[in-house]
Amino acid sequence: MRKIIIAIDGFSSCGKSTMAKALARNIGYLYFDSGAMYRAVALFCMKNELIKGDNIDKEALLACIKDINITFEVDPETKNSITFLNGKNVEHEIRSLEVSQFVSKIAAIDFVREEMVNRQREMGKAKGIVMDGRDIGTTVFPNAELKVFVTASAEVRAQRRYDELTARGDKADFNEILENVLQRDHIDQTREISPLKRADDALLLDNSNLTREEQMNWLIEQFNKLTQEC
Ligand code: C5P
Repeated sequence: MRKIIIAIDGFSSCGKSTMAKALARNIGYLYFDSGAMYRAVALFCMKNELIKGDNIDKEALLACIKDINITFEVDPETKNSITFLNGKNVEHEIRSLEVSQFVSKIAAIDFVREEMVNRQREMGKAKGIVMDGRDIGTTVFPNAELKVFVTASAEVRAQRRYDELTARGDKADFNEILENVLQRDHIDQTREISPLKRADDALLLDNSNLTREEQMNWLIEQFNKLTQEC
C-alpha cells in the first residue's frame, strides 16, 4: 500500500491532536504535532527571558533559533508523543495556559515559521506521517494526499480545553480559556505569514457533534479511499 502524507489543520482546541494521534496509531503512521514545536519555542523564550511584558526580543531569538533543539519520543507506556526541548521533557509545561497565551505571537514571527516549516518538511520526507497544525495542508505539505480541516464552535473547544486541564489537575477558568481560544483564532487567521485557512482541496470536518468513534470511522474511510485507489 502506498504511503501518503496526512495534513490535519484547524482551529485551536478542536481535538486535532487527539484525532491525529489516534489515526496515526490505527494506520501505523508516525504522528507529528507541529503546534508542540511552536509551544516549545515559546517556552524557550519564556525561560530565557526573551519575553518582556508584551515584547519579544526578536533579535536575540533570531540569533539562537537554529540551536533550539526540539525532538519527539514515544512514551513506551501510553504510546503518546513526548516533546523534548534541548533534551528536557517539556510535554506538560508546553500545555500550560501561560505558554498558550504567548505561543501565537511567537508563531507569527517570520523566521520562526521558516525554521519550523523546514524542520517539518524534513520529518515528512519518507511520507507515512500524520501532522497536525494550522498551515500543514497550505504551506508545509501543499501536495499532501489527504488534507482535513477541522472545526468546532469556540464554546465547544473551550469546554474541551477546560476538561483537559482540570483532568490533569490544573486550575482552569472557563471564561479565561474561551477568551484565549478566541484570541488565538484571531491571531492565527489574521497573521501575514501562513494564516490559518482551509486549503482549497481540504475536506471539512466539523466535529462539534461527533463522537471520537464517528470521527475516526470517517477518517479511516477517507484514508482507505485514497490508499486503495492506486
Ligand atoms: O496546536 P496547538 O494549539 O498546540 O498550537 C499552538 C499554537 O501554535 C497555535 O495557537 C498557533 O498559533 C501555532 N501554530 C501555528 N502553526 C502550526 C501549528 C501551531 O501557527 N502549524
